[in-house]
Amino acid sequence: MLGLMQNQPLLISSLIEFAARHHGDAEIVSRRVEGDIHRYTYREAARRSRQVAHALDALGLAFSDRVATLAWNGYRHFELYYGVSGSGRVLHTINPRLHPEQIAWIANHAEDQVLCFDMSFLPLVQAVHAKCATIKHYIALCDADKLPADTGIPGLQSYESWIGGQPGDYDWPTFDENTASSMCYTSGTTGHPKAALYSHRSSTLHAYAAALPDVMSVSARDAILPVVPMFHVNAWGIPYSAALTGAKLVFPGPAMDGKSVYELIEAEKVTYAAGVPTVWQMLLTHMKPGGLRFSTLRRTVIGGSACPPAMIQAFNDDYGVEVLHAWGMTEMSPLGTLCTLKNKHDSLSEEEKMKIRLKQGRAIYGVDMKIVDGAGKELPWDGKTYGDLMVKGPWIIREYYKGESDPLVDGWFPTGDVATINADGYMQITDRSKDVIKSGGEWISSIDIENIAVAHPAVLMAACIGMTHPKWDERPIIAVVKKPGMDVSREELLAFYEGKTAKWQIPDDVVFVDAIPLGATGKMLKTRLRELLKDYQLPG
Ligand code: AMP
Repeated sequence: MLGLMQNQPLLISSLIEFAARHHGDAEIVSRRVEGDIHRYTYREAARRSRQVAHALDALGLAFSDRVATLAWNGYRHFELYYGVSGSGRVLHTINPRLHPEQIAWIANHAEDQVLCFDMSFLPLVQAVHAKCATIKHYIALCDADKLPADTGIPGLQSYESWIGGQPGDYDWPTFDENTASSMCYTSGTTGHPKAALYSHRSSTLHAYAAALPDVMSVSARDAILPVVPMFHVNAWGIPYSAALTGAKLVFPGPAMDGKSVYELIEAEKVTYAAGVPTVWQMLLTHMKPGGLRFSTLRRTVIGGSACPPAMIQAFNDDYGVEVLHAWGMTEMSPLGTLCTLKNKHDSLSEEEKMKIRLKQGRAIYGVDMKIVDGAGKELPWDGKTYGDLMVKGPWIIREYYKGESDPLVDGWFPTGDVATINADGYMQITDRSKDVIKSGGEWISSIDIENIAVAHPAVLMAACIGMTHPKWDERPIIAVVKKPGMDVSREELLAFYEGKTAKWQIPDDVVFVDAIPLGATGKMLKTRLRELLKDYQLPG
């Protein structure tokens, strides 16, 4: 017997229509590429998304055709999120920080038909367009009068003239909720990038889950600043969760330096921000010298890389901002775990609570996880045994777009992360499996070693890598960037490790560097660091 409830497919268009109808006057504020502030409402955003849908129809785009973007977080990008997916096409967000060759490769692989780009990326598009064989239409995300006369890009038109004459109403099509809605290529440190192809169903379920109180806790009372880019994994789904709840949205555009982010948080009364640790490092570095305070910020979600304890402590103790440590990946839409405490933790001391907050958190309903050994046998949840982290659920990939092999193992997706899980279900990442340091048959977590270094007041950033050792296979060394105007010697930093970790885990050496190479999504590029240090010799 089937249930007798209405059967409505979960479609992305329903999110923006809900927001327009029930939170029509809630604001969306954007810092534009030009530097000025643009503000309007969900009602207006919905109207312009419908204009986008008409404009795509006018180009003759077929169902499921790919529309690419090279854009910062802003209102026009938001309209494309809805206009493209809502009308049945696939939004392909491209990471502008990728190498131009890789961008052209990705556009060809995805068979993009249209490319919409922010004017900051005009030189990039000029450099790659001749190599993008499938792109027929180029749209610059600007007003008509901001479009330079001769760009060399065939048929280039401004977004405003493209959608301007289109009607503001549109009959969003109804179709199978498993239809593809958007796609994102993994940052891929080796080989070609691979694409996760999200569906309307997976994105909508993910948006629901993300809004839960123990997850990102998104509400109509919030003003949310996603510093996490809309060009990577849909800004952790915030553009969808915000519409689902009617939260005010504040988009930072290209200005992600500490000063700009701080000013936007204060001016727009942001209650809630989300981003990777490097962004928050810039914000804290900006705030500290002048003794600046937050007047409205209450929570920040930090993920994408391990959040150092020193950062959680600084937000919590110095600024009264709760840090929610999150873990996920492109292949997981991206949310997998989030670290919020349980009722039973109320009686714990602050120190004990902090130990839990440092973990990557517990699974969200919709994500199941396990750790396994090399033979695929499930390992115990004792908080000590580490193994390969496997996940499954309705917003986790089944296969890559045009993928050649089945990525799953018995229905589980291998994340490539190594983790422990404790009896309460809290998962802690110890490393990427390729970054774990294997010393004398034991494993050393590079994340643990980095966390201790960045707790030193003179250290801005630290990356731990393993160096080949004749006796121990590998030994850790730590590459360190000092804070401007501060100093620490090799000996002082090594002494700082005493008592904070087992003696055999203390790095063999400290290498001071000007910068640590970062990848396209702001993560430390250890492959590149290893190349830079290829002539390095361990002491002794
Ligand atoms: P991406 O697909 O580019 O978003 O990268 C996903 C990878 O980033 C994960 O597999 C982890 O290795 C890493 N990652 C994401 N969040 C965290 C976190 N909170 N702590 C440690 N590593 C993380």
